Formats: sequence, structure tokens, C-alpha cells
Amino acid sequence: MKPAHPKSLAAAIRHQLQRDEADMVAFASDLIRIPSENPPGRAYARCARLIASRLRELGLSVRTLNPSGVGPCVSGTFGEGGRTLYFSGHYDVVPAQDRAQFDPVVRKRNLHGRGSADMKGGIAAMAFAVRALIACGFEPKGRLVSMSVPDEETSGPNGTVALAAAGLLERDSLGMLTMEPTSGVVWNANRGVLSMRVVVRGRPAHVGLHFRGVNAFRGMLTVAGMFADLEKAVSERRTAFNISPEAARRSVLLLGGEMAGGHNFNVVPECVSFTLDRRPNPEEDFDAEREALFDIVKRAQASGIDCEAELFQEGRSAATDADGDLGRALASSIRGVTGRSARFELCPGVLETRHYAALGIPALAYGPGLLSVSHGPHEFVAVDKLLECAEVYALTAMRLLSQDHGAFRPGRARRLH
Ligand SMILES: [Zn+2]
Repeated sequence: MKPAHPKSLAAAIRHQLQRDEADMVAFASDLIRIPSENPPGRAYARCARLIASRLRELGLSVRTLNPSGVGPCVSGTFGEGGRTLYFSGHYDVVPAQDRAQFDPVVRKRNLHGRGSADMKGGIAAMAFAVRALIACGFEPKGRLVSMSVPDEETSGPNGTVALAAAGLLERDSLGMLTMEPTSGVVWNANRGVLSMRVVVRGRPAHVGLHFRGVNAFRGMLTVAGMFADLEKAVSERRTAFNISPEAARRSVLLLGGEMAGGHNFNVVPECVSFTLDRRPNPEEDFDAEREALFDIVKRAQASGIDCEAELFQEGRSAATDADGDLGRALASSIRGVTGRSARFELCPGVLETRHYAALGIPALAYGPGLLSVSHGPHEFVAVDKLLECAEVYALTAMRLLSQDHGAFRPGRARRLH
């Protein structure tokens, strides 16, 4: 096929996607039917097999990489040589509230089901974006790699983390785009995360012999009070990155998301535990914030309270400049397809973009779903948004893979602190 003029190529891509709508929805629906719930990390192999066979049918050259041994990652490539642009999507989903969520259904042009928005719909959109480029005869200067990974929902070690650790992500790549449910904005930065469980121990005794006991609940009040003081100080700090509403600018320390302890109303409690979830803003010094948490535990121990802390989740903040080539290509594609200017915001949660940013690869999130429905019982994605996003992905890839990469300006991607 002859390479088309960019304008007519863009029109051909839109046409192709419209023709493929039913197949794209069918692919997303087939993915939704596989209950790849995480935790615990179910049905990864089935999901990966389906994605591999569908990408192969769509004309990509497919490899299944399994660096951890239990987390198959499917890499589908279009193009040869040169530098790589990654599309990355996770195929694990949060557990269903209702088994009916694994029976996808389209109502009023919305596809309902677990993972429709987060982010099996996005995986289908990226696959058909590549398919449209292939079908329209686009000749890339470089490679477009569609990467499908597990283990994102628990920040687990078996997906992107394992790919990065095994050296399977190319540092010299053009960028990474992920399909998280961004509700229409682009996320170019994310907060860090430090999730901790604090356990306070005492000695049990019957209420009548209370003087023989040590009350773990009293100890917890003291330790939790110290964290509450920190929470107050932390919430005074505001990020300068875009995020709305205004209250979302505050740095975060969530206290007591999970609590446990005590056996009976008439027994001095022996053991009490509570969690805290610290989400430092990108501007805060991650290591200092980490230290501040452990410092409270040390001070409590020094005051005679028998307590210890376990950090069960840790991830650093990251950011990618909005005005690098990836950000500009994405922004002009969004403007071209939707007629609206792209808005770059700080993601309220953690993002896999951070693993790419840590390698110096510019990484952005933009997807068809709404964050507000994503982990809930009524998750859905609009079919028109799937089409719109697939077109944005295809045009972004077209822009980045049409240019001579000698002149490529990736824009800064950085792990912050
Ligand atoms: Zn997600």
C-alpha cells in the first residue's frame, strides 16, 4: 500500500475504527468475561492467551514475556527497527462486587462489566488503534509496542515491575501511553504511596483483674494521636500540579482505613492494629516523609508502648513534562479528535507510568473510562469513548512515528525525589 498523506490517513483511521466498532466491543467483552481478579491474581494465563491470539489476528507480531514466571505479559509489535513507542494496559481487575459483572452487556451504547473502564476497554481500544494504523498502510519510523500486563491493581511485582527489573523495557524509547480511566484529562504526574500497618500489643486480663493487664487500645490512642498531629501538618501542604477540586491539592495521610483488635467487651485488649495510607505530593521529599512515619513509631516505642510498624506498599511519585514531544503529540491528537484542549492533571492515585518514568521514559495516562465508576459495582465505559480514545492513540502514534527521531525531544520524565 502507498503511504497516505497525514490528513487522508487520519480520515482513513477514523473510518477503519468505525468499521471495527463491533469487533472492538466484542474483544473488550471477551476480556471482561475472564475474571482476572486481583487480589488474588486469578486467570492471568487465560487473559494473556486471549490477548495474544487477538493481537495476532489483528496483524501484530506477538510475544508472551513472563519475567516473574507467574505474570504473563503480552507484547504485540508493529514496525521494525528504530525507537519504540509503548502502549501499556493492565488486564487484571479489582474483585467484583457481583458475579454478574463478568457477564458484559451493552446498554444505551455503554459497555457494562468489571474492567470495562479499568481497563479492558482500554486494552481493546489500543489493539484496534494499532490495527487501524496497519490496515490504513501507515509505515512507522520505529516500533509501536502494545504491552498488556497483570498485577497493577495491587502494585504487585509480576507485571510492569518485572518487565523493568528484567531489562525488557527499552530506556531509549519515545514514550509510554497507558489507558487508565482518566475521565477525559491526561495524567502526567502521580503522588507517592506509603501504606503502613501499626500493631500495638498489651497483656490481656479479665475486667475484674484489669490491673494485671496492659491495655493495647490505650497505647493505640497515643500512637494514633501522634499520627493525627502529623496528618494535620501534612494537610496544610498543597501541590502546584493541576488537580481539582481545590481540596484535592492537599497532601494526604489517611488514618484508620483498616482497624482490628480486642476479643470481648470485658477483656483488656491484648492487641490492636490500624493502617495509615500516606500519599505525599510530588513536590514532597519522599524519603523524608517515609522517615517521619517511622520516627513516630520509634518515639512511641521509646515512651514504653509495645508497638511495631510494617510498610506493606511503597511507590515513588513521578512526573512527565506536558510539553515534551509525547505530551504535544497526545494533546494535538486529543484536540483533533474531540475538539477540546487537553488538560494535564496530577493523578489522585498511583500509576504504572512511574515505572517508565523511573527509567527516564516519558509516560502519560489517557483513557476512555471514568474514574468515578471504575472500582464500583456499576462500572461501564461508553462505546463512543472507546472509539474516540482508539483514534487519539492511533493519531498520537502516527505523529510520533512519522518523524525523524534525530530531532526527537522526549521531554523530561523523572522519578521525583
Ligand atoms: Zn487501572
